Amino acid sequence: MTTSPRKIAFIGAGNMTQSIVGGMVKSGYPSELIYVSNPSQPKLDKLSSELLVHTSHNNAEVAATADVIVLSVKPQLMADVCAALRAEVPNLADKLIVTIAAGIRIEKYRQYLGDDIRMIRVMPNTPSLVGKGMSGLVADDRVSEDDRSYITEAFDGVGATLWVANEDELDILGAVAGSGPAYFFEFMASLQKAATALGFDREKARQMVQQTALGAAEMAIASELELEDLRKQVTSKGGSTAKGIEVYQGADIDDISANAVKAAVQRNQEMA
Ligand code: NAD
Repeated sequence: MTTSPRKIAFIGAGNMTQSIVGGMVKSGYPSELIYVSNPSQPKLDKLSSELLVHTSHNNAEVAATADVIVLSVKPQLMADVCAALRAEVPNLADKLIVTIAAGIRIEKYRQYLGDDIRMIRVMPNTPSLVGKGMSGLVADDRVSEDDRSYITEAFDGVGATLWVANEDELDILGAVAGSGPAYFFEFMASLQKAATALGFDREKARQMVQQTALGAAEMAIASELELEDLRKQVTSKGGSTAKGIEVYQGADIDDISANAVKAAVQRNQEMA
C-alpha cells in the first residue's frame, strides 16, 4: 500500500465483503487491521481462517474499533443497521464511512448516521467476485485526498476503479458497469443460442463465446484504437463479418443500448 493502512471494519460478510477483503489482503493490506461483522458464523469462520482477519457478531464493536467503516449489507437492511450504529458507536463523525449498497444516496445516510459524517459511495459490480470488477466511486466534499487514495487502493484489489463527479453520474455508471455484466451475458447467451440452433454442441458453443468475449475485451484494453476502428479491423468489405454486422446495425444496436441504459438509470433514480 502507498497510503497508510487504517483499521477498517466491514459490516456484513457477504459475497462482496469476502471478495474485497480477499483482494485487499492479496494486495498486501495487513490482515490484523481488518475487522468483519456478520450475524452468522460460517462466513466469519471462512474469513478468519483463510484471511486471518478479526471477526465478530457485533457491528458496533468492530465499527467502534475502526477508522473506516464499510457498510456492506443489503440496501433494505441499511436503515436499521445504521440506526444501531448511530446509537452505539461514539464519534462516527471522526471515521470515514464507505457504503457499497446500491441506490441509497449520501443525503439519506446523513439522516441515518448524522449530518456530520464524511462519506464515500462505491458501486462495485459482480466481476469483483473474480477480481475483474469495475467500481465507481463518489465522495462528499468532506472527504480528503488521502481518504480517496486509500479507498481507491482498497478497491483496486478487486479490479479497476473510476471516480465520478456526483451521484447522478454514479447512477449512469451503475446502469452501464453495474448492470453491464447482465447485458454482456444476455448477448453472449444469444450468440451461444445462435450457434446451437445451427447444430453446434452447446458446451463447445459456450466455450467459443466465452473465449471470444474475453479476447475482444482484452484486445480493446490493449489497443489505443477506438472500439469502432477495432470493429472495422475485423470487418473486411464484402466478407462474412460484414454480413453479420449489417444485421446488428440494421436492428440499430446503438438505439437498443441507449434505451437499455436510460431505463436502468431511471430505475436507479426511482430507487434512490
Ligand atoms: P450478501 O447477501 O452476500 O451479503 C450481505 C451480508 O450481510 C450477509 O452475509 C448477511 O448475513 C449480512 N447481514 C445481514 N444482516 C446483517 C446485519 N444486521 N448486520 C451485519 N451483517 C448483516 O450481499 P452482497 O452481494 O455481498 O451485497 C452487499 C452489498 O453490496 C449490498 O448492499 C449490495 O447492494 C451491494 N452490491 C453488491 C453487488 C454484487 O455484485 N453482489 C454489486 C454492487 C453492489
